[in-house]
Amino acid sequence: MLSAELSRVIDATVDEARPALVKLSRDIHANPELRFEEHKASAWIAELLRARGFDVEHGLAGMSTALRAKRGSAGGARVAILGEYDALPEIGHACGHNLIATSAVGAFLAAAAVVDRTGGEVLFLGTPAEEGGGGKIRMIERGVFEGLDAAMMFHPFDRDMLAHTALASTWLTMKFIGAPAPAAAPHDGRLPWRHGMRFA
Ligand SMILES: [Zn+2]
Repeated sequence: MLSAELSRVIDATVDEARPALVKLSRDIHANPELRFEEHKASAWIAELLRARGFDVEHGLAGMSTALRAKRGSAGGARVAILGEYDALPEIGHACGHNLIATSAVGAFLAAAAVVDRTGGEVLFLGTPAEEGGGGKIRMIERGVFEGLDAAMMFHPFDRDMLAHTALASTWLTMKFIGAPAPAAAPHDGRLPWRHGMRFA
């Protein structure tokens, strides 16, 4: 569980970054750039991160608009948060890549603020050309995702969704073995991890 102290650091980090994050989102939205041409968006993100003391690799895997920043140390979990920032021809930021980029930067700043205390490493990866260009595929092929334990991102939608079918997702059915408890008597329940957990 997250300690109150870590939660406070995360809250304070996001509060401090809020104006810059909102500006980043609006600037990217107002300046839609097509795949592989996200020069302004990637420069604004790099600028924001550098202003907060991060070393930013700008240009990666043969793409001048890919980005990488990291914080933490080897030995623990390595988690990447992915930001997309390309737009669609004629439509602009229809599905909200300005929000994806901004939320990824914000989540990275928050995690980076506590990673020295939690252990592990957190990375921000700016991934160009999501709209048909396959920027992430180039990054995978050039080893950018090597050694990562998890990669995550957020995508806005017009409703709450429990599941989303994506081309590159793998489904796992998990069966938890334990004893359920009524809400009035939670102490009657037995936690699954005391009894082991198995994949169905
Ligand atoms: Zn999208």
